[in-house]
Amino acid sequence: MNMTLDIPIQEIPSENDQPDILDQVRKISQTDLAAVVDACDQEGFYPEAVLRKLGRAGAFGAHLGLTQEPSDFGLAIKCMAEVSRVCGATGFVVWCHDVCGVYMQASKNPALTGKALLDHAQGITLGGTGMSNPMKTYSDIETMMLKAKKVESGYLVSGALPWVSHIGLDHYFGTVCAVIDEQTGEVNPDHQIMFILPCNRQGVTLKDCPSFSAMEGTSTYGLLLKDVLITAEDIVADPAKPFIKNIKASFILLQTGMGLGVAQGAIDSMWQVEDQLGKVNQFLEDRPIALQQELDDLEARIMVLAKTPYESNDDYLLKVLDARAHASELALRAAQSALLHQGARGYLLSSAVQRRVRESHFVAIVTPALKHLRLEMARLKGQSFLN
Ligand SMILES: Cc1cc2nc3c(=O)[nH]c(=O)nc-3n(C[C@H](O)[C@H](O)[C@H](O)COP(=O)(O)OP(=O)(O)OC[C@H]3O[C@@H](n4cnc5c(N)ncnc54)[C@H](O)[C@@H]3O)c2cc1C
Repeated sequence: MNMTLDIPIQEIPSENDQPDILDQVRKISQTDLAAVVDACDQEGFYPEAVLRKLGRAGAFGAHLGLTQEPSDFGLAIKCMAEVSRVCGATGFVVWCHDVCGVYMQASKNPALTGKALLDHAQGITLGGTGMSNPMKTYSDIETMMLKAKKVESGYLVSGALPWVSHIGLDHYFGTVCAVIDEQTGEVNPDHQIMFILPCNRQGVTLKDCPSFSAMEGTSTYGLLLKDVLITAEDIVADPAKPFIKNIKASFILLQTGMGLGVAQGAIDSMWQVEDQLGKVNQFLEDRPIALQQELDDLEARIMVLAKTPYESNDDYLLKVLDARAHASELALRAAQSALLHQGARGYLLSSAVQRRVRESHFVAIVTPALKHLRLEMARLKGQSFLN
């Protein structure tokens, strides 16, 4: 006999519960996450239970607006910042999950929206993003690493992605591949597809990566794809290019939560030693009061941009790129200054300050890296540069 289990769907907290969501996320970050942050950093512990708790609290759903309330990108960014303030690696994982939700929702594919999206938004299912290579390809920095052949039931995709985080055999992720022209047998430069791929699909192999500087706890793998079948149910966009143009600003803007959080964590660490070391620390640059002012101003700027995350005009994109670059630069400066403020205690391998220096480096190198952001800004401003 077939039995159907009616699993009750937990309601996603509405926008009216905003302070609740942020308060809960802050609390989970400062208790549950703080308890495992050293294990994340030093033992490569992937804090899956904490992620699921964050999902239940509403951290992954704010920007999707799945209830009657409008989506709130600002709240999603603030939640990511609270997580990153405690653990930059987990903050990055939150971004991976959030942006995967953007792909699913914007796909308008019934198989990726509805219950699938609701489960994603609540952290019941988990999924990341393998978009570094496609994003760099669209910026003429790399060429597409995944390639697809059209077949009757969909596409067969092969290739490799060196790093995809927040994945495992029961996870999924969004990515893009080039499509091979059936006539010429060559890659068609005008045809790419975007899709969500479950990691347990036949033909997918997850490979261990070398040890990372600060991102060991992000469940990051190399991916090998060999004739992996992609059907209509997996498709986010075909063709992918116009879709990417529409979600590009939201992809980048969401990342600012990592930079804001890592910078705030660094400022917190400066205050911890102020009573004892303020007498001499006053001679340092980037003091906490000045950095906090800069951080608050940047956050205010980001919150304005977060009101219209799906704008795709150049002027808006330039402002988003600038805010994302500023968040990276501020995180780098704040983390370095926190180390100088804390001195020897900040140089201990177990110190949050020392870990945050490495986290701030990641904020600056994850796609779009600081150099990539500056390249795009130069292009949009029409500046000439060497090829
Ligand atoms: C810990 C970690 C997690 C990541 N998670 C994700 C993720 O979830 N999703 C995602 O899409 N991307 C992920 N990335 C990739 C990341 O976003 C960047 O693409 C990557 O850090 C390089 O970006 P870059 O612009 O600085 O390129 P660069 O490093 O300046 O250049 C990249 C190019 O250099 C070459 N290269 C880089 N490393 C090596 C190497 N070890 N050996 C040989 N050649 C090399 C490659 O050809 C590549 O095309 C992750 C990277 C790291 C380190």
